Amino acid sequence: MDLVPVEKMMAEDAGAGRRPAAIVATAGTTATTAFDPIDKICRVASRYGAWVHVDAAMAGSAMLLEECRGLFTGIEDAASISWNPHKWLGSVLETSLFYVKDPAALVSVMATDPSYLRSSRDGAVVQYRDWGLPLGRRFRALRLWALLRLEGAQAIRARLRRDLANAARLARLVEEAPGWRLVAPVPLQTLCVLHVTEGLAGEQLDRHTLAWCEAVNSTGEAHLTPAHLDGRWMVRVSVGSETTEWPDIEALWALMQTTATKMAGARP
Ligand SMILES: *Cc1c(COP(=O)(O)O)cnc(C)c1O
Repeated sequence: MDLVPVEKMMAEDAGAGRRPAAIVATAGTTATTAFDPIDKICRVASRYGAWVHVDAAMAGSAMLLEECRGLFTGIEDAASISWNPHKWLGSVLETSLFYVKDPAALVSVMATDPSYLRSSRDGAVVQYRDWGLPLGRRFRALRLWALLRLEGAQAIRARLRRDLANAARLARLVEEAPGWRLVAPVPLQTLCVLHVTEGLAGEQLDRHTLAWCEAVNSTGEAHLTPAHLDGRWMVRVSVGSETTEWPDIEALWALMQTTATKMAGARP
């Protein structure tokens, strides 16, 4: 997020008598795991009393690791945070967490108090029906509780660290290999890669990128996801399955290299 135009627009709105309502920041975007400057965003928002929501759906799991906390500097000032343990943490679908600094803000708009829902325990317990739209809800927290009981926080942290180390190791191999490029920083466990052979650019490069990615996926050995970056296709290698170990990544890297080289040679 480029805060310069954001600040300018908010100032214009405030000057025109409109109240800026919220800024939604992302800690770890889906395509490239990019991090918005959350501390600066919170500072700007606070001048206008605007809500800051942080989408940490994928990267939120990294908050468990001391060495990754720097990526989330300022997140304690956000009004709300969402994070999906059903992604990297390893919980089953759908375990989406929502943190809110001041639940009263939810209760003030979501609370409902019909006569038939009143009980003698009102006021003594948290009525989650007052925090959101549905009255009835599944016991989703049980999934996270079960994961924590089965694996334990230390084992989960060790697994996340394993993935970070394996992604960094693969990133070094990609950087050193002729014809291969990392097209975005690797703050966590997702690599954005390109295979560029001589004379390939623009739409031809896009076709090559999509072709080798699809060829890798069609083997059934791995699943990579192509995505747009600055208007061009690249390939995302996301390391984060519970059973993925270094030999799996080594085998994937070999498969990527032979496939991309073969496809480049086969180009008409
Ligand atoms: C996966 C992801 C989402 C989607 O989350 P849902 O809870 O499935 O809606 C949103 N934002 C980011 C950054 C994601 O990685």
